[in-house]
Amino acid sequence: ELEAARNAASKDDLRSPICCILGHVDTGKTKLLDKIRQTNVQEGEAGGITQQIGATYFPVEALEKKTDVVNKDKSFEFKVPGLLVIDTPGHESFTNLRSRGSSLCNIAILVVDIMHGLEPQTLESMKLLRDRKTPFIVALNKIDRLYSWKPIANNGFRDSLSLQNKAVQNEFRDRLEKTKLAFSEQGFNAELFYENKSMAKYVSLVPTSAHTGEGIPDMLKLLVTLTQERMTRQLMYLSEVECTVLEVKVIEGLGTTIDVVLSNGILNEGDRIVLCGTEGAISTDIRALLTPAEMKELRVKSQYVHNKTVKAALGVKIAANGLDNAIAGSRLLVVKDKDNEDEIEELEEDVMSDLENLMSKISPS
Ligand code: GDP
Repeated sequence: ELEAARNAASKDDLRSPICCILGHVDTGKTKLLDKIRQTNVQEGEAGGITQQIGATYFPVEALEKKTDVVNKDKSFEFKVPGLLVIDTPGHESFTNLRSRGSSLCNIAILVVDIMHGLEPQTLESMKLLRDRKTPFIVALNKIDRLYSWKPIANNGFRDSLSLQNKAVQNEFRDRLEKTKLAFSEQGFNAELFYENKSMAKYVSLVPTSAHTGEGIPDMLKLLVTLTQERMTRQLMYLSEVECTVLEVKVIEGLGTTIDVVLSNGILNEGDRIVLCGTEGAISTDIRALLTPAEMKELRVKSQYVHNKTVKAALGVKIAANGLDNAIAGSRLLVVKDKDNEDEIEELEEDVMSDLENLMSKISPS
């Protein structure tokens, strides 16, 4: 179970980028996530994709397979060790994945329904992405709904489009141009991904269908391109822990646990951690670092596998005492010297400085 974590730290020491998905309701965020996670039923086709807590890890081998149809000559070279995709779509997971105002989500997919164009929550998402300076690509989803679209399952978009009749191609162009105009009205210049000459200046639009899988190979390749070309600095491996609480959950037999995304560094069983709580800072020792059991391990009777140590980037569940008042979105810090009261106090002050900000985000329910 540690293999994924180890892979994530290899390859010139770039870590895996973390990707979030957001956009208006019903644009197909959930379906797109399902579709990229999907593996061929045949043995081995999964290519090491691992389900994690709150996230799915795609090692580079899996990405290579899934982009094969648009990289037949293998001219595109993968430099990242993999990609960690956050499973929960939407605003909340994105805003929770923050640290000191900057986002722990390295790259985002903004999903737009090609039949609807920009909708209210699309605009909200764009504002969030702009505020956090998060690079993103746009999945122009539901292309299979273009009138009389003939699908070729999991094909590259460009090839699929070239095989459509003229009327379909015209409808596509028409909707594409409308979308580009709508983006420019919001202050973003957008281009169809294979017509985009500058990823620094233009947002790439990648047409997709979460139903037929068309365009998804292009989307994955584009995510990797953007991270490799534009953000290697953020993806340098650090010894310092960068970790954010995604969810606080009570689990039978474990008590209150926190699901975290470890975006950099290493966590060990027994580490003293400090995080932000509604009733003051929480300092506690990690009792267990848990990741989901794989199918073949299900005989072990527990849903979870215990890890002595985990390495970024990955999602992991932490069991520890005293987590009842932990707050989603809180940073998690690790104490270097457990006997150093001053250090602990300093870290406690540090995490609690986020309290106001975090509380203002908790919507009254
Ligand atoms: P979310 O609210 O953004 O997570 O959207 P969902 O993934 O739940 O999808 C909303 C609806 O749109 C569902 O009925 C999906 O089956 C449908 N849908 C999603 N993606 C596509 C697509 O690519 N093509 C078509 N035709 N329908 C889609």
